[in-house]
Amino acid sequence: MKFDVVTIFPEFFRGPFAYGVVGQAVKSGLLGIEVHDLRNWAFDKHRMVDDRPFGGGEGMLLKPEPVFAAVEAILPERGPKTRVVMVSASGRKYDQGVAREWAANLDRLVLICGRYEGVDARVSEHLVDDEVSIGDFVLSGGELAAAVIVDSVARLLPGVVGNQDSTINESYSVLEVEDKVWKKGRDARGKRFKGSRELQLLDCPQFTRPAEFRGWKVPEVLLGGNHEEIRKWRLETALRRTAQSRPDLLPAGLLEELEGIQHHDELAPAEGLRLEQEGQSSGDPDRRHGSRPGEDQGR
Ligand code: SAH
Repeated sequence: MKFDVVTIFPEFFRGPFAYGVVGQAVKSGLLGIEVHDLRNWAFDKHRMVDDRPFGGGEGMLLKPEPVFAAVEAILPERGPKTRVVMVSASGRKYDQGVAREWAANLDRLVLICGRYEGVDARVSEHLVDDEVSIGDFVLSGGELAAAVIVDSVARLLPGVVGNQDSTINESYSVLEVEDKVWKKGRDARGKRFKGSRELQLLDCPQFTRPAEFRGWKVPEVLLGGNHEEIRKWRLETALRRTAQSRPDLLPAGLLEELEGIQHHDELAPAEGLRLEQEGQSSGDPDRRHGSRPGEDQGR
């Protein structure tokens, strides 16, 4: 896949694409990333790319002509596998779902970075195919957003991350979760729960050596080698983490069901991952760090 980034600060991208799996993929030719200086398409002798907004107001805007000229030169023809995208605080939300869709379907992605107060609106109306925001905050320029998008799409392309499975089982992956994972025991009619549903979960907590650090122990189940128990523990802790940090990801009603879960001792999640039902308010900042060894007795 090839990415083209249009910016007034091409030097900005010296760092972000040079490291890690993305850097390696660029070096090996698996990935193409070309950064274009918008000023190359400025049409006056001062290489002006910005101007004051009509109607008054603060700051400057990127002018339409250089942006149109740049995109038309970089991508003279559009096709089903190309996309011209402007990063913008007022675009639709960019998330893992969008990253997955672009990684699966595109072979060329052109990203336009705004600066100053933004970009002349005719770019969004008549030039780009899509406009995305990387979050509900305002950056001083689109470069960081473009870097975020290139990185998150690139790592989903086959061969970029060494073990492709690690991009299947990670935060925001959609997983088929069996109902019995959170509905312990039997339903009102004495039947075992058999259903399942697709959920988008955050990653489960992960641990490495040492098995005990400053008195904090790695959950026993992870040391045991029982793959089914480990799978269940991971799913449960992922569910709890999602319920705590991102309840908005879970379907309506599931949160209430989750609050009713009673846990087997051997599946007790890592400290700091308990649900509200245990008498802790979600506003307690200390909870994020877990409790100190010894404080947890008797729970
Ligand atoms: N006046 C604009 C903000 C301009 S910020 C507004 O109020 O919405 C300058 C540039 O930074 C934008 O043109 C855009 O390219 C980039 N930018 C700022 N916030 C962003 C975000 N959340 N996601 C993606 N790009 C963003």
